[in-house]
Amino acid sequence: MPLQPEASGSTHGRPLRRASQVQRRDDGVVDQDLGTDRHAGARRRMVEVDLAGRDIVDPRVLTAMGLVPRHLFVDDTRVGQAYEDRALPIGRGQTISQPYIVAFTIQALSVAQGDRVLEVGTGSGYAAAVLAEMGAAVVTVERDPDLASTARSRLDALGYGQVEVIRGDGSMGRLDRAPFDAITVAAAAPSVPEPLVTQLRVGGRLVVPVGGRRSGQNLIRVVRTGEGTEVEDLLQVAFVPLVGQAGWSDSQIGPRRGALRRNHPR
Ligand code: SAM
Repeated sequence: MPLQPEASGSTHGRPLRRASQVQRRDDGVVDQDLGTDRHAGARRRMVEVDLAGRDIVDPRVLTAMGLVPRHLFVDDTRVGQAYEDRALPIGRGQTISQPYIVAFTIQALSVAQGDRVLEVGTGSGYAAAVLAEMGAAVVTVERDPDLASTARSRLDALGYGQVEVIRGDGSMGRLDRAPFDAITVAAAAPSVPEPLVTQLRVGGRLVVPVGGRRSGQNLIRVVRTGEGTEVEDLLQVAFVPLVGQAGWSDSQIGPRRGALRRNHPR
């Protein structure tokens, strides 16, 4: 069955709204507001302590992480924890990734302005928004229709309408959108998905967690060269499983447990 775009990038070219210009409505949707951003201090602390205080050194990554309002990508009940350096549940048994892991991954991808980037595992849409803040042309794929739809609405409301959200199995990439300068996978695969490697342009970078369904995972970087690939092991991590043709099967992961998965490096 062909994969259908959840929505086209209909607001392409619209200037981005900043965190200081948006607020959450009672129904959880975000809306524009010219008031101040009361989460700015917590976000600044997150950037300075949890990111720059560790090994996130790319100023463009730090700037983007300081601009995206993570509190608007989590459930109402989690707003108070939005700037803690931890993964948080977003419903459907899935999580928004830990800020450090998002920043580490994007830094490892060396994303430049104008790069064409594929994200597999949209989740809340947060990492896609950070990539968009860095000037990337983002295509993001989410297998869960509810999450894809919510992420689409949220990204539109926050001024990230240029991000293309596609509902479907991203484990095989998106041949119709390739080649990509960078590909990030936000769920763990049993091995490096070969179709993703072939959809990189020469010089392109893929960062993907690889290992067990629930444990024993490493974040791997694959760089496509003229001759083949260079593969590097970056970090031990714990992600939710990548479920799809080039990932785990539904029967292998069993029923959705709804448990919080952390993706802290160990
Ligand atoms: N990047 C997300 C964010 O910023 O909120 C976090 C992603 S969450 C850790 C992993 C996501 O990958 C889940 O939403 C899950 O449904 C999705 N996923 C798992 N297998 C997938 C597949 N084959 N294709 C697309 N999405 C997949």
